[in-house]
Amino acid sequence: MKLSILGCAGGIGGREKLTTCLLLDDDILFDAGTGLATLDMQALVKIDHLFLTHAHLDHVAGLALLVDAVQGKRSHPLIVHATQEVIAVLRQHLFNWHLWPDFGAIPSEQAPVLRWDVLPLHTDLTIKGRTICAAPVNHTSGSAAYLVSQAQAGFMFTGDMYSTPALWKTLAARPQIRQVIIDCSFSNAEADLAQRSLHFCPDSLLREVEQIGQPIEFLIYHLKPGQEDLIMQELQQPQARHQFTALHSGDTLRF
Ligand SMILES: [Zn+2]
Ligand SMILES: [Zn+2]
Repeated sequence: MKLSILGCAGGIGGREKLTTCLLLDDDILFDAGTGLATLDMQALVKIDHLFLTHAHLDHVAGLALLVDAVQGKRSHPLIVHATQEVIAVLRQHLFNWHLWPDFGAIPSEQAPVLRWDVLPLHTDLTIKGRTICAAPVNHTSGSAAYLVSQAQAGFMFTGDMYSTPALWKTLAARPQIRQVIIDCSFSNAEADLAQRSLHFCPDSLLREVEQIGQPIEFLIYHLKPGQEDLIMQELQQPQARHQFTALHSGDTLRF
C-alpha cells in the first residue's frame, strides 16, 4: 500500500500548510481537507471511496469541491463512508442546497455523483485487498479512527482525537499495525485549549500512550502552524518506548 500525505497540517498559512487529506494508492481517500487541491483532474476522477473521520471543515472542505469537479466525468458514484452522525451533519449543514447543492441528488437521485454509506464501527470492509475498519474516538460525535491493513502490513489513522482508552485495545488486536498517524495539535502551553477542543498536546498524548504495550511509531499530524518544532520537542522523552515523528504534507509512506 502507498499512502500519499496530501495535507496533514492543523491549519492553513503557506504552500505546505494544507489540511488533512490522505490518499491510499490512487482510489481511496481519508478525509478531504485542503490537501485535496494538490491533485490534478486525472487523479481526482480516480477516487472511488472517501472515508471521513469527522465533519469538521478542515477535513471536509475539499469534498464539496471534489464532487462538483468530477460530476459528469465518472461512470459511478464517489462513495463517502462515515458514521451516521457525521453523514447527518454533512447532509443537514453542508449539502443542503443553501451552503452547497445536494450532490446526493445530482445529476439525479438514481445516478448521483455522491453516495453516502453509513459505516458500522468495528466491522471490516475490504476494497481490492485493503481492509478498513472504523473505531470510535473522542472528538466530535461520531468521530472515527481507521485501521487499514493488507496482509501483514498496516497503519492506523486516528483523525482528530483526545483520550480514547478503548482505541488501544482495538489496535492491540491487530499486531501487524505498528504505525499510527495521530493528532497532536497544540503545545503544552495550550493544554487547556487542547483538552477543551478534544485534541492532544504532548503531555496528554504521552500519558495516553503509556498504556500501549507494543512499540509504536507515532506519526504526528494536525500540528498548529508555527508550533511544529515546539510540539515535536515536547514529545521527545529519554527512554521512550514509542517513537514520535512529524508527518509532512508531500510525504509518501509505504506499508
Ligand atoms: Zn476536528
Ligand atoms: Zn482537524
